Amino acid sequence: MTGHNCPLCAEPYDDRNGLRVHLEVEHRKSEIVTTLIDLNAAGSDRAADGDRTTVGDEPPAPPV
Ligand SMILES: [Zn+2]
Repeated sequence: MTGHNCPLCAEPYDDRNGLRVHLEVEHRKSEIVTTLIDLNAAGSDRAADGDRTTVGDEPPAPPV
């Protein structure tokens, strides 16, 4: 197993430099950012989907 594949389109590349050139040529930076954000969002989607109805969480009364 000598080859690698682009994480975005599975295009094979030989080394880090090959991947970098491929990303710069075949993929826009915005596309890479979007992909990374989508991956991150997919991972943290459940956490963000939790109950945000913490209305009754009132702060403790000040000791006056
Ligand atoms: Zn690619």
